[in-house]
Amino acid sequence: MQKLVIVGTVAFDAIESPFGKTDKILGGAGTYIGLAAQNFGIDSAIVSVVGGDFPQKYLEEFKKRNINIDGIEQVPDGKTFFWKGRYHEDMNSRDTLDTQLNVLENFTPKVPENYRDAEIAMLGNLDPQVQIDVVNQLDNPKLLVLDTMNFWMDSALEKLKEAISKVKVLTINDEEARQLSGEYSLVRAARKIEKMGPEFIVIKKGEHGALLFHKDQMFFAPALPLEEVFDPTGAGDTFAGGFTGYLAKTGDYSFKNMKKAVIYGSNLASFCVEKFGTERMMNLSEKEINERMKTFKKLTQFNLDLT
Ligand code: AMP
Repeated sequence: MQKLVIVGTVAFDAIESPFGKTDKILGGAGTYIGLAAQNFGIDSAIVSVVGGDFPQKYLEEFKKRNINIDGIEQVPDGKTFFWKGRYHEDMNSRDTLDTQLNVLENFTPKVPENYRDAEIAMLGNLDPQVQIDVVNQLDNPKLLVLDTMNFWMDSALEKLKEAISKVKVLTINDEEARQLSGEYSLVRAARKIEKMGPEFIVIKKGEHGALLFHKDQMFFAPALPLEEVFDPTGAGDTFAGGFTGYLAKTGDYSFKNMKKAVIYGSNLASFCVEKFGTERMMNLSEKEINERMKTFKKLTQFNLDLT
């Protein structure tokens, strides 16, 4: 089992969807990654920043789940990162209505001393300079995975490219892969992004599953078709947490094992969207995850003679 360092926003989210509206609930990329990854019983730590307005009880929830929070800085007179989004009728697309960086604006991350030897880091969505600062504090990481979004492509593209050039795996959604590469075809987009540095590219397609690219190899995992999707917020981060959590547990970073990691990522993301915010991820059992793994297997295995 490997140590996993997670960096990403720990945030307040306000969400509007056809199912309802929430005001300032717990969210953030770091939060969703941490909650997903801890299902693999690994030793993980979140590196992030929150303001004086962030309830202690949320930090306790991380601790209760064995997620180290020594690297979550608290700025007593600052405000926590805030994001507001509205989902469209199809629940697959959304508009960002507000992004307030707040304490993230002047944040210098500090990886706790006893996590600097971590083998894996999941560089979740936030300022690419912070992602780079975290990489620089790690002794000898074997696997760096980076996730990002259009906000950082629009505001810090050159820094983001520098961060991307340092990692082995990039996880990104389809729209963002197109924006980053300037290519509409996702196959071409992955080829172009590989030239930027990463050896493995995971392109997330929301309810249409995820693609894994590595050199001339390609793998596809569907998302689980669900009767109801309440809130897709955090699904991408949860996918990334499941993906890296499984890799940290197994310590095997081959293409073959990454295929399984992609399925675990899809598995966990399918739970995340069942309730608003982090609610479902806070109440998820190993048994449920294992049962759903069987459902995934049935969904994708066919014994047809295709020759
Ligand atoms: P996802 O639905 O997986 O793309 O992630 C949604 C989460 O990302 C929300 O909980 C937000 O708090 C967080 N988020 C939104 N915008 C940003 C941003 N620009 N940088 C970092 N995190 C963000």
